[in-house]
Amino acid sequence: MIRRRVTVLGSTGSVGASTLDLMAQAEATGTGVFEVEALTGGANIAKLAEQARRWRPKLAVTADPARLDALRDALAGTDIAVAAGDAAIVEAATRPVDWIMAAIVGAAGLKSAWAAAATGATLALANKESLVCCGPALIERVKRAGGRLIPVDSEHSAIFQVFPADAPEQVSRLILTASGGPFRQTPRDQMTGITPEQAVAHPNWSMGAKISVDSATMANKGLEMIEAAYLFDMPQERIDVVVHPESIIHSLVEYVDGSTLAQMGPPDMRTPIACALAWPDRIAWPAPRLDLAALGRLTFEAPDLARFPALDLARQALKAGGATPAVFNAANEVAAFAFLDRKLAFLNIAAVVAETLERATKAGMAFGSGDACGAALSVDAETRRMAETVIAGLANAA
Ligand code: NAD
Ligand code: MG
Repeated sequence: MIRRRVTVLGSTGSVGASTLDLMAQAEATGTGVFEVEALTGGANIAKLAEQARRWRPKLAVTADPARLDALRDALAGTDIAVAAGDAAIVEAATRPVDWIMAAIVGAAGLKSAWAAAATGATLALANKESLVCCGPALIERVKRAGGRLIPVDSEHSAIFQVFPADAPEQVSRLILTASGGPFRQTPRDQMTGITPEQAVAHPNWSMGAKISVDSATMANKGLEMIEAAYLFDMPQERIDVVVHPESIIHSLVEYVDGSTLAQMGPPDMRTPIACALAWPDRIAWPAPRLDLAALGRLTFEAPDLARFPALDLARQALKAGGATPAVFNAANEVAAFAFLDRKLAFLNIAAVVAETLERATKAGMAFGSGDACGAALSVDAETRRMAETVIAGLANAA
């Protein structure tokens, strides 16, 4: 039985809602008891209010100040405090809890993850973008506060579970698995007309829109390579990616003696979330189970870097180091959302990232002095402007 006082940042999203769902199932089966301090969401007030009525947090926050009145109305008659805006989300993240889930999407999740890192709570980190933007500083901040960072991304949860934390020198290589996304087998000449609807229809995982696009371009695996490098202190040349369309093996750790350990499970985010929630314990919940005989076989192939150049761009960004991963992240985020807004063609997502990286490198983009979170946010803002210019240039040329 685990008892936790928790906060969920981004509770209305795919990972956030799965977290609450898992907590409900753990309570129903008598394996967990949870008290919720704060929930935060975005524009979906109905969902946030429904979650708040179910979990009775002390505080519910919407990112959008224009929706504060709607949230207040929706929670009228309860004793749940309401608030809105970025500063309120950061305040929610600083409240003392045992466990905090950071599941806001994109660099928008950086400030609250940074705030949560200083509280000493266990930080369950789904928001990979904050690690990519300022991973080493974020990891150091959690350590200094006496907290613990547990990765939620399924690949990193897999590695975390089979990685010898006390003897990292025993590891020779990390192998990240990738589903290959919905266009794994689509010939390049048919990739030009890909629509947002096609891109978010992932074959194995049900996820938010941005990460689904990242999965389709394989920028997601690029972000995850950077995430893995920081989390497990591994140089890029010792991180490989293999395409595994069934998404059953979530990643592997190769040891120096040639032994390779993998973590497996059906593709359901509630399992890595459960691992982060209970660590170092385990909670029982009615998880989907593996039926290997029914699966019959697992398949693997090398990623096609020509059709999915974002993967290699991420590797180059990691190699360059410094602020370059943050530049990669911001350029990719702007391009992915421009694609979702139908302002950019699918194949131009990686082209925008490549061009923005080049311009940023030429301009000598680097982290300023001072607070690492602030420095990363400045690079993020500056890169966003550059990427918007690149996108506008493409639109003019068309
Ligand atoms: P989502 O789009 O479903 O949900 C995002 C959440 O963030 C929502 O609650 C939304 O209201 C909130 N949000 C959005 N913009 C915000 C802003 N500007 N300020 C404050 N809150 C904001 O996304 P998701 O798929 O749940 O992904 C969340 C994070 O977890 C991402 O970083 C993603 O890469 C990572 N992740 C997701 C999955 C998955 O299966 N969905 C798997 C691994 C990692
Ligand atoms: Mg992942």
